[in-house]
Amino acid sequence: MRLILLGPPGAGKGTQAKFIVDRHAIPQLSTGDMLRAAIAAETKIGLRAKKLMDAGKLVSDDVVIGIVSERIDQEDCSKGFILDGFPRTLQQADALGDMFEEKGLKLDCVVELQVDDDALVERIAGRFTCSNCGEGYHDKFKAPKNPESCDRCGSSEFTRRADDNEETMRTRLRAYYKETAPLVGYYYAKGQLKGVDGMGSISKISADVEDVLRKL
Ligand code: ADP
Ligand code: ADP
Ligand code: ZN
Repeated sequence: MRLILLGPPGAGKGTQAKFIVDRHAIPQLSTGDMLRAAIAAETKIGLRAKKLMDAGKLVSDDVVIGIVSERIDQEDCSKGFILDGFPRTLQQADALGDMFEEKGLKLDCVVELQVDDDALVERIAGRFTCSNCGEGYHDKFKAPKNPESCDRCGSSEFTRRADDNEETMRTRLRAYYKETAPLVGYYYAKGQLKGVDGMGSISKISADVEDVLRKL
């Protein structure tokens, strides 16, 4: 199964992707995570991406298209994958279509998580992640059972993203509505779009996403 998770920053794409990974045994391909790894490794791409990401602006299409194309050629993607945070522009969507055609792959579905702006700001403001295993948390909506340690791996180190602040958040939301939201119409026109109400609880949304996937 090959799917795209579409939605604004903070919608819950990463959170829902993790459930799909567990249920369907396909990897999550998050371009944001890949770019953050490139920054941590101080690669050329990472050094170029850092300034843009810190400012809440999109990284250039060429760079992310290249990263995704290489990634989906890897063995663990042979049975499918979840694209999280890609495509984010019409140019990326067209490039992905070409890529799938060249590689002989089929896109099964685009799941759009629909969330109000106020909720996005609240979700992003409280977001943090386990530094060791990457499990995502939220101060209010998904706090670890023991505030000192990760539920999944027990690590006591957590990180917050440099771009998860109110000022950058506004730039990212603008970028979403200007550059990424047109993809809703793009995939609707192709008959591939499935909208899911992203305003409920994490478990309710997860059940709704699974309903959509079961019917494919
Ligand atoms: P969120 O989960 O909040 O939507 P991401 O982790 O997906 O954020 O992305 C963080 C940042 O990484 C973006 O603001 C952007 O600068 C960059 N980025 C990630 N994916 C892409 C992409 N497909 N195209 C361009 N820039 C991207
Ligand atoms: P995205 O990948 O779309 O940027 P995340 O999955 O990282 O979004 O979620 C953003 C934040 O909101 C995280 O802290 C996460 O724990 C929290 N979150 C995710 N889904 C929900 C939900 N349905 N209700 C409340 N908080 C949520
Ligand atoms: Zn952990």
